[in-house]
Amino acid sequence: QLSKRLARVGELVPEQSRLADIGSDHAYLPVALVLQKKLDFAVAGEVVKGPYEAAQKQVRKNDLTDQITVRLADGLDAIEETDKITAVTICGMGGVLIRDILDAGWTNQRLQGNERLVLQPNIGEKPLRDWLTVHGYTIIEEDILEENNKIYEIIVAARQETRVAYSEKERLFGPILLKKQSPIFYKKWHGEVKQREAILAQLAKASGDQQVRMQQLEKEITEIQEVLSNES
Ligand code: SAM
Repeated sequence: QLSKRLARVGELVPEQSRLADIGSDHAYLPVALVLQKKLDFAVAGEVVKGPYEAAQKQVRKNDLTDQITVRLADGLDAIEETDKITAVTICGMGGVLIRDILDAGWTNQRLQGNERLVLQPNIGEKPLRDWLTVHGYTIIEEDILEENNKIYEIIVAARQETRVAYSEKERLFGPILLKKQSPIFYKKWHGEVKQREAILAQLAKASGDQQVRMQQLEKEITEIQEVLSNES
């Protein structure tokens, strides 16, 4: 049984993809998708030995060694040309780490540029969207959900003929999430305002010159409140 978060990621993986799940941990996602018969080939990549062994165990336990290859590798180095990967999932890490994994794969050409990316950053969505924008990706779907009192965003991206220039605001809030305006989206950003206000209060009490940082936070709060003012 997948978590709500991973189940939603799985729904966003196209049917019959050849999937690389990077940072797969127990390989729960590829195992579930193959058992659902949504996929029949996947690579589960892990850089840490413990989770790599857990992934191997999970694949063997489900008798899926013919369909799922588990590799001990850093990021997209888990992908080999003969895998003919068409979709990549990178989930449950910070957005900056996901960005760095994509960037390394872009540089060493493990990432071809035609794979569908389904990314689930725990934090740091903005630097991830910045990278996608600079590298010519279009954000084709986004979702936001809550599970165990945590709010997660999912970003689906692909490189398409026409390039989209996302604004700073779209890269912060998510171009599609901004349009969807779901209750969870508003809940997240109310929380983000509260967090920034708490930091501001601390900085106001701190010694030394906090002016620049405080002005930046005030600017961010104003931008967020502008978006929150659309809440019905
Ligand atoms: N993807 C699963 C999920 O969403 O539930 C597991 C998330 S777990 C919190 C993050 C996993 O990413 C860890 O098992 C960690 O070892 C792995 N990881 C971190 N950096 C990595 C990298 N550069 N390459 C491959 N795996 C990595």
